[in-house]
Amino acid sequence: MTRVILITGASRGIGAATVRLAAQRGYAVCVNYRSSAEAARTLVAEIEQSGGRAIAVAADVALESDVIRLFRTVDNELGTLSALVNNAGILEPQADVDSMSAARLQRVFATNVFGTMLCAREAVLRMSTKRGGSGGAIVNVSSMAARLGSPHEYVDYAASKGAVDTFTIGLSKEVGDAGIRVNAVRPGLIDTDMHASGGEPGRIERLKGSVPMQRGGTADEVANAILWLLSDEASYATGTFIDVSGGR
Ligand code: NAP
Repeated sequence: MTRVILITGASRGIGAATVRLAAQRGYAVCVNYRSSAEAARTLVAEIEQSGGRAIAVAADVALESDVIRLFRTVDNELGTLSALVNNAGILEPQADVDSMSAARLQRVFATNVFGTMLCAREAVLRMSTKRGGSGGAIVNVSSMAARLGSPHEYVDYAASKGAVDTFTIGLSKEVGDAGIRVNAVRPGLIDTDMHASGGEPGRIERLKGSVPMQRGGTADEVANAILWLLSDEASYATGTFIDVSGGR
């Protein structure tokens, strides 16, 4: 039976790289995105041209009604969900904490924390062997920022990823006897559009000297770690983290 995977925030960057690798490994893939419909459609067409199966579904993971619709669409169009990658994440322009508005904090936590938790909830409802499901695996995309704190850049974002780490540990313990493994990856400086969202497209160039490996990473390098955690090769790994950060 074809395994079904849902990857949030998958229209570009790490999410899109994870879609491509999952399709290569034989998963039927749901490509979730918030607003980049054209990019998501192009990615789905690419997967289909290579003989894979994929659908694109617009949904804002910060909105509970969107999340419920997203998972129902996967049920109806792809079948039984066996893997979830909570990848959707945002950051806001670089700023010190003393100038962060409540609205900004709410936006960052709504997508990065509440979105992750709501999607995990829907996945558990479907995967749990205690609820008649067949088990599954969840990978949360956290960040090295959870450990580094991102001073003078985005402490709000870093704190949201700290919440993702704690959620990963707690949920893994809650569903360890329900056939579900829950793990996270913590990427370091990865070459995607995200740094431009923070107002500094050249951020990796500026900071790569602080990385022991002296370079930024690629979205493919993160996708490889995600797919390993989802695979049967990681069958005894839960509540754990892979730092994909060149040693930073
Ligand atoms: P990116 O290039 O900015 O892509 C973000 C993706 O998330 C886009 O597909 C975007 O879709 C989607 N998205 C944003 N908000 C969403 C929402 N509320 N609902 C659904 N989709 C949403 O980012 P990336 O660098 O690939 O980052 C992916 C993940 O890795 C994030 O969780 C990020 O925090 C984490 N990470 C990245 C780095 C890095 O250096 N790049 C480092 C550590 C951790 P639309 O375009 O449709 O809005």
